[in-house]
Amino acid sequence: MEPLFGAAVEEVRKLVGLTDSELAILADADSAASELVTSEFEKYVERKYNPEAIEVLKRHNLMGVPISERYGGRGARQLVQALFLERMAQSGMGVITFADVHQCLGSLTVQDWGTPEQKERYLPKAAKGDVIFAYGLTEPEAGSDPAELKTSYTKEGDGFKLTGSKYLISNGSIASNIIVFAYPKGGGKGPSAFLVDTKRAGFSVDMRLEEKIGLFTSDTSLFSLEDCFVPADDMLGPEGKGFSVAYSALLNGRIGISSGCIGVMEDCLNQVKERATSRVQHGKPIGRHQLIQKHIAFIESSLEASRWLVYRAAIKKDEYEKDTKDLALRGEADRLSAVAKYTASRGAFESADRAVQVFGGFGYSIMSPVAKHFLDTRVARIYEGTDEIMELKIASSVLGKDFEAYK
Ligand SMILES: Cc1cc2nc3c(=O)[nH]c(=O)nc-3n(C[C@H](O)[C@H](O)[C@H](O)COP(=O)(O)OP(=O)(O)OC[C@H]3O[C@@H](n4cnc5c(N)ncnc54)[C@H](O)[C@@H]3O)c2cc1C
Repeated sequence: MEPLFGAAVEEVRKLVGLTDSELAILADADSAASELVTSEFEKYVERKYNPEAIEVLKRHNLMGVPISERYGGRGARQLVQALFLERMAQSGMGVITFADVHQCLGSLTVQDWGTPEQKERYLPKAAKGDVIFAYGLTEPEAGSDPAELKTSYTKEGDGFKLTGSKYLISNGSIASNIIVFAYPKGGGKGPSAFLVDTKRAGFSVDMRLEEKIGLFTSDTSLFSLEDCFVPADDMLGPEGKGFSVAYSALLNGRIGISSGCIGVMEDCLNQVKERATSRVQHGKPIGRHQLIQKHIAFIESSLEASRWLVYRAAIKKDEYEKDTKDLALRGEADRLSAVAKYTASRGAFESADRAVQVFGGFGYSIMSPVAKHFLDTRVARIYEGTDEIMELKIASSVLGKDFEAYK
């Protein structure tokens, strides 16, 4: 693994400054990522979810990295969250998927939208890992178009009853609390967001999806709600504002996933460097063959381009956090997070593909470190908004609102 605080972190430190406590988060991330490499690889070979990830993150006080210190977290701004996830990704996208969902889609969304009472109730536990979050937007008939959601709620006593099915949910069978989006039964309003306690009657995990192409170490599940009760004080954000909650979560989440993709590209680069200088064919290390250098040049360029794009999106989001009334700033952060995800996820997948190529036949074995990245990164071009949805979002941000694809 690369030495801690490589050149890029040094540059970030010079450009925007990193405090001692922020550097301590990165040092802890480095230790946690190193500790996880072995179990992540073993579980990947077994095609199983890796429970060790939560234990290691807890041990290094990394469950609540972006949660405010006031609620027991480490108060990381988005840029530091990005640097943290980048380092963690060197042990794979499985860990990133867990951490991104628990922290960026879960904890940060409660921090941004929760009432003071909800923040007190959930965030200290989330920072310790006693609450684990998932995010339930997708349904069998509602993927790229969440307006198609079928999950519905009715008012019932001092709360609500939710009925419906959620599909392809990361952390879905390990979460204690899931942010679920549902329409009022009979329509009339937009959907609302709810914090569903998975211990409540009416909640059931239907299936843990294990037959995936990759990302085996991350839990992906399908669950159902059958008249599942949610107390009134577990509605998240104003009634009818579910999409605003959902999209603000995705803004943070996309920066998180992109950061993970940078870590993967870094690992691909380290792996190919080692392989290209040690493997000899035609009388010389394969790195001396110019066509192999082409792959290395691609990975390096893709890494550098994505890295600064992701940091820029994170910095813009941090600027917006200082003035949350500035909607132009929010729009800019949203646009940059889409550009970052679109670029970094495709860059990571192609880098992993090229790394497999440099490894040759061994690269095609699941036992090679780069094959894991190849299998795991494909999903980054699908979840939290597919390539195509990112393209539509980016194009309309250039052309203007009148060109929004869904109008
Ligand atoms: C491993 C994994 C983990 C996931 N984790 C979560 C999670 O934690 N929470 C959650 O809510 N969801 C999660 N998802 C779901 C994920 O976000 C969706 O799969 C994704 O949004 C795409 O939806 P879909 O699968 O229904 O594809 P569809 O929406 O059916 O899309 C199929 C194809 O059509 C394209 N398409 C759709 N509409 C358009 C359009 N208007 N123009 C052009 N092309 C279009 C898409 O880009 C795609 O190529 C996860 C998915 C996976 C695989």
